[in-house]
Amino acid sequence: MESILVWFRRDLRDCDQTALCEALRRGRRVYCTFIFDREIIDRLDRADDRRLEFIRESLVELDVALRARGGALIVRHGWPRIEIPSLARALGVSAVFANRDYEPQAKQRDAAVEAALRVDDIGFESFKDQAMFDGEEVLTQTGRPYTVFTPYRNSWLKRLTEDDWLPHAAGRGSLAADALASGVPSLADLGFARTDLRALRIVPGMSGGRQLLDDFMARIGRYKQQRDFPAVRGVSYLSVHLRFGTVSIRHLVAQAVAAGALRTEAEGPATWLSELIWRDFYFMILDRFPHVTQHAFRPEYDTIVWEQGPAAEQSFAAWCAGRTGYPLVDAAMRQINQSGYMHNRLRMLVASFLTKDLGMDWRWGEAYFARQLNDFDLAANNGGWQWAASSGCDAQPYFRIFNPLTQSERFDPAGKFIRRYLPELAGVPDRFIHAPWRMSAAEQTACGVRIGLDTPAPMVEHEAARRQTLQRYAVVKSGGAAR
Ligand SMILES: Cc1cc2nc3c(=O)[nH]c(=O)nc-3n(C[C@H](O)[C@H](O)[C@H](O)COP(=O)(O)OP(=O)(O)OC[C@H]3O[C@@H](n4cnc5c(N)ncnc54)[C@H](O)[C@@H]3O)c2cc1C
Repeated sequence: MESILVWFRRDLRDCDQTALCEALRRGRRVYCTFIFDREIIDRLDRADDRRLEFIRESLVELDVALRARGGALIVRHGWPRIEIPSLARALGVSAVFANRDYEPQAKQRDAAVEAALRVDDIGFESFKDQAMFDGEEVLTQTGRPYTVFTPYRNSWLKRLTEDDWLPHAAGRGSLAADALASGVPSLADLGFARTDLRALRIVPGMSGGRQLLDDFMARIGRYKQQRDFPAVRGVSYLSVHLRFGTVSIRHLVAQAVAAGALRTEAEGPATWLSELIWRDFYFMILDRFPHVTQHAFRPEYDTIVWEQGPAAEQSFAAWCAGRTGYPLVDAAMRQINQSGYMHNRLRMLVASFLTKDLGMDWRWGEAYFARQLNDFDLAANNGGWQWAASSGCDAQPYFRIFNPLTQSERFDPAGKFIRRYLPELAGVPDRFIHAPWRMSAAEQTACGVRIGLDTPAPMVEHEAARRQTLQRYAVVKSGGAAR
């Protein structure tokens, strides 16, 4: 092809980027664009949304990288179904290349763009880039999608060969610059404000992804032992980079394999690779079962009657603000509110607490996470929430209810994480840090923490909540009853 336009979306890097590599292989001149999609960003309710800054900073770095190779990024702010065809016409390209997205709205958007391009006889091609394997590539023996993780993972691993993780070669085409590429708009131009991204030491772009990966590779061997302890630097923190494609999933798999992930004795790398496979699994579930965005994966779970009304709304607000009275739950909510990140163990804990201790619809929590998380990803977030609520595929059974106290004692034994996010509990003696309400009046006075004044009393009693949840979920056991 004479010239091709590459449309960047959640793949903000210039190396091992499938659509870009394909365009450079098949086209002589390759233009690059990114559209700040008004369909998405006009709905964001905070001017200081860190994701906007992360994307913008990543684009600045990407533009520099493309310019060093003779190209440049054309950045627009508008509706892709209008901007992409108009740009493709202006540049006179014969095709637009992009990487596949599995979200229902993104699929609709791409179909609309493709149809608009067709009017002008311009092609549209999409490629696998976000996932190691697409929904069609890992199927059961009867050709159906897996709905249980372990056999999916086994089949995924069996299918994996070196070709799957080798970086894509770029080809001979050349990147082209155009006068339309006039730099990346400022946050203010886009109607957004600067955030605390830098203060949080979140480094956007490919360079940020590389730094985190280098740091993690030095400790990947300890991942299995350390990944469940939020006070320990045990996980990779790469999720925001995976979300926006400032790292390549193939490169991460290659690194995990090089560290021994395919050898059973290398537990750290193998466990981490499993987490990357969970990511593919949830992409596949979203792709093949798009009803999960609105409904329970298993329909009988849609008959559960959740708490509603003003009292429920008040409880929800307390959960959001980190004022449930359960220290580890509250510290976790403060972590997400202050930083846009929450440790995986804590995501499971707070999701279980909301659905099974407070009896609230998982969709409320899912929507709150979608607003707060820097790494918000529809597939993983929906999968995680439905797992915790037991309504998802291969979810934990409904009668398995995390005990917030036991979780706290096990995964934050010294209360280090709790004290980091709840400084008001700093003086609470270690033996009460997981349940400060057990302190006598004299003990409260001695440590300067009065229950109900300096810190909330627990909003529910876990045992009673557990019994109520078992009743609430009984409709599932009986095959589902009318609301
Ligand atoms: C209720 C709930 C909501 C979640 N919402 C999101 C979300 O919006 N975005 C998101 O990326 N992850 C989500 N997760 C999954 C997981 O919590 C995060 O991916 C992880 O905490 C990110 O930290 P990390 O990069 O240090 O992970 P690591 O432990 O280093 O794992 C490496 C990568 O594997 C992937 N991964 C790990 N665990 C999972 C998982 N359970 N499901 C899918 N992918 C996984 C992520 O891409 C992660 O970056 C959610 C989990 C739960 C229980």
